[in-house]
Amino acid sequence: MTSPRPFNFSPGPATLPEPVLRQVAAEMLDWQGSGMSVMEMSHRGREFISIAERAEADLRELLAVPANFRILFMQGGGLGENAIVPMNLSRGSKVDMVVTGSWSRKSAAEARRYADVQIAADIGASHTIPGDWRLRSDAAYVHVCTNETIDGVEFHELPDLAALGSPAPLVIDCSSHLLSRPIDWSRVGLAFGGAQKNIGPAGLTLVFVRDDLLGHALDICPTAFNYQTVAAAQSMYNTPPTFAIYVAGLVFQWVKSLAYAGKRGLAAIEQRNVDKAALLYAALDASGFYENRVDASCRSRMNVPFFLGNEALNDRFLAEAKTAGLLQLKGHKSVGGMRASIYNAMPLEGVETLVAFLKDFEARHG
Ligand SMILES: *Cc1c(COP(=O)(O)O)cnc(C)c1O
Repeated sequence: MTSPRPFNFSPGPATLPEPVLRQVAAEMLDWQGSGMSVMEMSHRGREFISIAERAEADLRELLAVPANFRILFMQGGGLGENAIVPMNLSRGSKVDMVVTGSWSRKSAAEARRYADVQIAADIGASHTIPGDWRLRSDAAYVHVCTNETIDGVEFHELPDLAALGSPAPLVIDCSSHLLSRPIDWSRVGLAFGGAQKNIGPAGLTLVFVRDDLLGHALDICPTAFNYQTVAAAQSMYNTPPTFAIYVAGLVFQWVKSLAYAGKRGLAAIEQRNVDKAALLYAALDASGFYENRVDASCRSRMNVPFFLGNEALNDRFLAEAKTAGLLQLKGHKSVGGMRASIYNAMPLEGVETLVAFLKDFEARHG
């Protein structure tokens, strides 16, 4: 018997479901009698095509992706999409961007290289999503980061641009909460996210794009990053990240089979995420020693930044946490303090163990 693995609170690449890792290990040398590792297969062979088709079908089912959206398996990550989206959608014209933290700020800076960018609203130093967006009626799209991984700010509901008087499609960077909750596709034109937070290994980027947004790429757009080309080739215009797609597919099967609180699949994972986040925020709020500064209206279910009352204890906190089997709790360098990322694959028991550790550390040092 091996001892249980520690709980890993990394913001990404992040913890994966243990049953998935075990299956990957078991199939490493010989995938289902094929005599090959998935890494060694042609992406155009029968075996891998079946893996990719099942992964896409399961993802479509889990997130109830409508038929008029294409699901693309790409590379380049969230930062790559910061350029790929404006190259495909901006038509070199106007783009409105809402800044709610570090990632949307980065997206805006990159989009400026391809489009006329206006900041529609900016969170600044506040900890709540700003209202009163300045939206241009002729913008090609509006960009929002629906979960700010570094700042711990999440849209609990997607903005309804039509209700705000904008006819533009909404683009969401949902890298760090993709597959943690349902997506209201009626409000979205394009969604993108890297796999390495909730879905699988780094190297795979998921893009969901509405059909009518295809076919407007700028001339300078690399062919391999032209959504229309990628869509027409079923994400096989060039070699896709085959191993990452395979692992992601196993994660989709794991989510589909998950049962929790009388629910199954995405509803189960969402309820588990709600419960995990509630437990952690309640412990932080009840303590006079720890502090999360994000407004309750937009606290992230996935990334929970917090500060110790005595920052001189930060190194000690991290060292003791590691000894207690709680890894990678250090906050992002731009924010400081701590951050617990509690993605889909983090079990409730991991958060319970963290909460017990928080109380114990406070009792001894608070
Ligand atoms: C992690 C992350 C990114 C960056 O992804 P890369 O794969 O490193 O390019 C972009 N946006 C958000 C919201 C993220 O969490």
